[in-house]
Amino acid sequence: MAKLEYDDDGRLLFTEEMRKEYTILVPQMAPFHFEYLVDAMNTEGLRAELLRSDDYELIHEGMKYSHNDICVPAMLVIGQFIDAIKKRKHDMHKVALIITQTGGGCRASNYIKLLRKALKKAHLDFVPVISLNANGLEKNPGFKITPRLLHKLHDAILFGDTIMTLMHQTRPYEINEGDTDRLKEKIDENLKGYFNHNSLFTWKRSKQKIRWMIEEFNNIETTDVKKPKVGVVGEIYVKYSPLGNNRLEQTLEKEGVEVVVPPLYDFFLYSFDSRAHDIKRYGGPLKERLVLKALVWYIEVRRQKIRNMLKKGGFEAPVPYKKLKSLTKGFIDVGTHTGEGWLLTAEMIDLIEHGAPNIVCTQPFGCLPNHIVGKGMIKKLKNRYPESNIVAIDYDTSASQVNQINRINLMVSNAFRNFEGGR
Ligand code: SF4
Repeated sequence: MAKLEYDDDGRLLFTEEMRKEYTILVPQMAPFHFEYLVDAMNTEGLRAELLRSDDYELIHEGMKYSHNDICVPAMLVIGQFIDAIKKRKHDMHKVALIITQTGGGCRASNYIKLLRKALKKAHLDFVPVISLNANGLEKNPGFKITPRLLHKLHDAILFGDTIMTLMHQTRPYEINEGDTDRLKEKIDENLKGYFNHNSLFTWKRSKQKIRWMIEEFNNIETTDVKKPKVGVVGEIYVKYSPLGNNRLEQTLEKEGVEVVVPPLYDFFLYSFDSRAHDIKRYGGPLKERLVLKALVWYIEVRRQKIRNMLKKGGFEAPVPYKKLKSLTKGFIDVGTHTGEGWLLTAEMIDLIEHGAPNIVCTQPFGCLPNHIVGKGMIKKLKNRYPESNIVAIDYDTSASQVNQINRINLMVSNAFRNFEGGR
């Protein structure tokens, strides 16, 4: 068994030895993307496993080992981890956990500390926790983000975003029920082994894959029926995670609408760009700022090619990051970086301007920043865009699901009324 080593502050480290023996548990935060992220990690000498549990036991563990005042995403992630470790009775001494650490002004930067506190309380403090961050906040000898791993993670997010966009624009219109889901399975099968390579530049390969995916989606038989579009925005976890938002996407599609969820990559670009913005405004290493700017530029160059492919294939493509940022003029300052900051407001404006004035703004209960940049913006948006039909839904482990669904249904019935009335 690997020896436990600690840093000077008493933090348990993920060591080189653990890298060979331990399984890294990854919480499910965004189903379209995390499968591929885990596949990418597994080809770089790591042994990662995606957690798929979503039962009551998990929520119970989260509530038991974290304070009931903490943010819902933290409670659910902590619950999912502890539940998974306890279920691995025979090898619980051979698992590590990985969690993102944003380094921003919000409580998300402290989720890692809350997780360690919960592990201690559950007598599991022999489990190392790895911080996934872009700011060098915590380092571990057994976990390094190499340029090749970074490139693979980048491809994984591009695939996730593209497949999500294609599925949302196809499934509500399919003639043969289940065609879209079956194609997703076929794509997942095809992508197995994709990340198993040693090259750093994979643009040609990933472009071929994406072109093939678009062609495959184009082969699905669809109707010409038009449906109202409903956008989903909000705090990053409850926006993408079916566990966090009580399967919102499924609920909406059952109501007969087309769901529009903005790409996950915009959140990463927003995070890099926000750090660069802060360095410029408040000072910091110039080199870091230039690297971040270059990163945003590089990612956008690659995303633009995908946007072009989507449009050529007859699909709607998400707007470029720069355009998204410019939409905030007159609404919110781009220096607003706490939580989802200006990005959330910009996504709502973009949805309204692109035919999806019906929006569900998802927020964890008691999430202060998103109540300002999300719910707090609804009135202002209504003044500028009278056709907007936005509902803010609070997500909490003790919130009434019936209440959530009733409010969503009311928004959907308004969406149908406005749509049929031709607004
Ligand atoms: S954005 Fe909201 S949910 Fe996320 S850490 Fe901040 S307060 Fe908590």
